[in-house]
Amino acid sequence: MEYQPVIGLEVHVQLNTSTKIFCGCSTEFGSQPNSQVCPVCLGLPGCLPVLNKKAFAYAVKVAMALNCRIAEYTKFDRKNYFYPDLPKNYQISQYDLPLGEDGFLNIRQNGNIKRIGIRRVHLEEDAGKLIHVSDSSLVDFNRTGIPLLEIVSCPDINSPQEAYDYLISLKQIIRYLGVSSCDMEKGILRCDANISVKRQGDSELGTKTELKNMNSFRGVREALDFEIRRQVKLLENKQRVIQETRLWDAQKHMTYSMRTKEEAQDYRYFPEPDLPPFIIDAEMQREIKKSLPELPQAKELRFIQDYQLSEYYAHLLTSDREIADFFEYCVKLYPQAKVLANWMCGSLLAELNSRNLALGELNLSPENFVDLIRLAQEGKVSNVVAKGVLRDMIDTGQTAGEIIQKKNISQISDPDALKEIIDIVIKENEKSVRDYLGGRENAIMFLVGQVMRKSKSKANPKAVLEILRSRLNK
Ligand SMILES: [Zn+2]
Repeated sequence: MEYQPVIGLEVHVQLNTSTKIFCGCSTEFGSQPNSQVCPVCLGLPGCLPVLNKKAFAYAVKVAMALNCRIAEYTKFDRKNYFYPDLPKNYQISQYDLPLGEDGFLNIRQNGNIKRIGIRRVHLEEDAGKLIHVSDSSLVDFNRTGIPLLEIVSCPDINSPQEAYDYLISLKQIIRYLGVSSCDMEKGILRCDANISVKRQGDSELGTKTELKNMNSFRGVREALDFEIRRQVKLLENKQRVIQETRLWDAQKHMTYSMRTKEEAQDYRYFPEPDLPPFIIDAEMQREIKKSLPELPQAKELRFIQDYQLSEYYAHLLTSDREIADFFEYCVKLYPQAKVLANWMCGSLLAELNSRNLALGELNLSPENFVDLIRLAQEGKVSNVVAKGVLRDMIDTGQTAGEIIQKKNISQISDPDALKEIIDIVIKENEKSVRDYLGGRENAIMFLVGQVMRKSKSKANPKAVLEILRSRLNK
């Protein structure tokens, strides 16, 4: 590619505290509009904000997990602008002294690790929500004052796929910390992108545009992809890229201009006079550091070492903390890590994906899951049948034993019972028998297949092959 994209992402994440960032109002989602408001979050005169300690600790946690330098001294600032969803006409944010700076996050690119710089992590309050109806607009202030974390990457991202991988990795880390669900479809995580293109080898950056309105990780990747092609085409035609904000239209698969932005907007930031500066001293830093869980990439390495798993399996199993914990719990019950990994990465994750559910939402305890695997490993039930049993277990909440008994689907390994079916198959497939005896070794697999079909997958295929072979060779 002759042109190199230069991309920086700005991510906003709602923190899942039970109360707002500067008042005691509930943050519960889906309540009656304007039922979770008070003088503070409505910006009425004469009331003072008080910082939510938990939101602050959550923010520091994320900054630490992203390898940021934690500010010993940090403060809040007013970002002044007028908008109907912002009752104070300013947003309390952080300007020149954010709580975290100069971190990084690693993504994997074709087997290599690429480090993406994190420029800053800061805390701010969310605005309200406008709802446009036919001839008027309504405003709901329930969201006003919900704690938001802003995470700004350095322009180290060079392709839409890298942007996608960065978001996946960021989401995994924040979910591991338990401070947000990072659900982009629900607006818990929002992402804007700055993008420009330059000729390969040029040191000077091109003019950038800002992309907004993407509401899925895939949407971010598609919007960037479109925007790169649009900018390259302009440059190829000797036209110039205009610095502007563009919105992504997911239906039409294109970006369109929202407003031109010749100069950076001047928000007239100044220190928030109603909040004191905050000190994050060494002791507080130590305390928060101690509370950090093992993070996905460290866990992945440990899984490879401790359980001798492939990189692929270790990566899948640690993609979500719940899945990783489930796996480790199962290993304690049944110390055959590779067998478990195989089952989890294959059948179990497939069930989760097809149902679009999280592991915790499934009707499946590790004990029951391990029981099923044990039965399959011991040959009590064939692997094919066991997959169906797993599906039934999830649907009904019953144990593997109950389902196998009720459906009468134990694996048949008893030679006498198998011989009966095998004799019928031999009689019905004279041509394949002749082929096999004539030297076509493969023909026997066809016969095994027929036995499996006749037994509704209950026959033990290993035993079938053995008996068939000895019978035909006679
Ligand atoms: Zn309030």
